[in-house]
Amino acid sequence: MKLQLYFVLILSIINGNLSAQAVDQWLTRFEKSNFFETPDYNETMEYCSELVNASEYAKMFSFGLSPQGRDINCIIVSKARQFEPDDLDERERPVLLVINGIHSGEINGKDASMLLLREILVTKEKENLIENVDLLIVPIFSVDGHERRSLYGRINQIGPKETGWRVTAQNINLNRDFLKADAPEMQALLRLYSKWLPEFFIDVHSTNGSDFQYQTTFAIEKHENTTPMIKNWVEEKFNPSITRSVEDKGFAISPFVGFVKGDPRNGIYDWVPTPRFSNGYTTLQNRPGLLVESHVLKTYKERVFSTKAVLESTLELINSDPEELLKLARDSDEYAVESFIEEARPYPLTFERSDNYEIYNYKGIDYDLVKSEISGSEVKVFNEVKFEQKVKYFNHAVSKKKIKLPPAYIVPKQWKEIVERLKIHGVLVDRLGENKKYVVEKYQFSDVEFPSKPYEGRFRPVYKHTISIDTVVVPTGDYIIGTDQRSLGIIAHALEPDGPDSFVQWGFFNIIFERKEYYESYALEPIAQKMLENNPLLQQEFKAKLRVDENFANDPKLRFDFFYEHSPYYDKNYNLYPVLRVIEELDD
Ligand SMILES: [Zn+2]
Repeated sequence: MKLQLYFVLILSIINGNLSAQAVDQWLTRFEKSNFFETPDYNETMEYCSELVNASEYAKMFSFGLSPQGRDINCIIVSKARQFEPDDLDERERPVLLVINGIHSGEINGKDASMLLLREILVTKEKENLIENVDLLIVPIFSVDGHERRSLYGRINQIGPKETGWRVTAQNINLNRDFLKADAPEMQALLRLYSKWLPEFFIDVHSTNGSDFQYQTTFAIEKHENTTPMIKNWVEEKFNPSITRSVEDKGFAISPFVGFVKGDPRNGIYDWVPTPRFSNGYTTLQNRPGLLVESHVLKTYKERVFSTKAVLESTLELINSDPEELLKLARDSDEYAVESFIEEARPYPLTFERSDNYEIYNYKGIDYDLVKSEISGSEVKVFNEVKFEQKVKYFNHAVSKKKIKLPPAYIVPKQWKEIVERLKIHGVLVDRLGENKKYVVEKYQFSDVEFPSKPYEGRFRPVYKHTISIDTVVVPTGDYIIGTDQRSLGIIAHALEPDGPDSFVQWGFFNIIFERKEYYESYALEPIAQKMLENNPLLQQEFKAKLRVDENFANDPKLRFDFFYEHSPYYDKNYNLYPVLRVIEELDD
């Protein structure tokens, strides 16, 4: 800390409040630049260091290194000086984790957090906000992306002057990476998350797309992807309270929605985010997670201060009844195990929007369709004319694909990478100490196809599958993952092939879709002849296929394949999912 600042701080402590001159010393770049600039990484971290040095209630620590070697820092603020997490059962103060700059071009959360922390730690005017809550704030999450700064980072966005870039130095979009956890930054965050298991989580963004009157929008899960107690709390308490409280602070706020056929007059809708997204992910951890999306076409000043209003309003709500949020987390963890294991209810993996709707009074901004010389088509030009209209709000979803969870999954030891990813999420994993016999279910894939381009660096296969039952001896050292644990949603989504963000769908198992051994027809010919002679059922099947399948009958390779696939030479592991669903363990 600079000597001058230290002197100012001493004065402020003596006086119990900061003088106007002292406040000047604590102005952020955002304030000093007339609300149009945001500090770079080094300046941000220097300011944050000074903030935490100014208070006995705060510390800053690095929880990971970025691929370009920057520390990813977190500020912890605890009036109880609880700088390490308590056991969940013994926790007396709920923990709120805020991450800023996951898309570091959308950095309003960082500047809002710096102001808020100053008011909590230095001027102490908002010290009441940490009375009953411990606070973890990541000032910049995508630190390398943040330092890819330029005037040209965000074409649709008004300010700040220079912004960072949407993705990491490895070109990874962190807000698609929560479940697959490819990025070192994400792995570090998930370790922090599963160590603390915060009772509430906030991920701050700016929108893309259309104009409307709201300075900020928000999304928090209230569908069947979360627990009934969280759904109830969100609908009955959080949503009305946060809306009222942010409006009282002078900002318009609405749910983050999509427009039916591109125009809100046709209706608005929400959706169930899959666990690649932050708010879809925290539901698998049985915790509420808030997505804040400040509006890209409002000034940077409005975006920062409306985001700050959301942070403050959330803190006010949690502080008013901290026990409620602690209980919500404990009850939700218990509910997950009770519902999907003890009562064996099917677990919902995928969702679709329902036709049910409510009426919402939407505050839009109108647009004209203008003939474009550039594109030759009509383009939307927002015209600043405000309108208010009651519209259909499609905010209900129904579960589509449900699965019954097995008591455990088995992952062979050669797939250690899968297990390591699960451990990052806090999943508990055992290893078999001896060979054991199990009745299991196996997924066999077929009709496997790949897209022509990668998505997030991965080729996501599409496939069909069938399930068969088998008895197998599982060797010592293979991994066994019991589902009787609070993170069962993560296990199900990662390991069930129908999960939209399952490890199979993200391409972790692509190599099982490669055939590695082949036949020469001269070698197969005599073997196939013998099979035909010695196996009347196979002969019948072959002849029937020749009769009914012209394509097969006319293709020598398909005809050879038929025999190869029925021969003992054929690779039984081809297209076979190596992860097994346990039905029961057998005595030897
Ligand atoms: Zn974003």
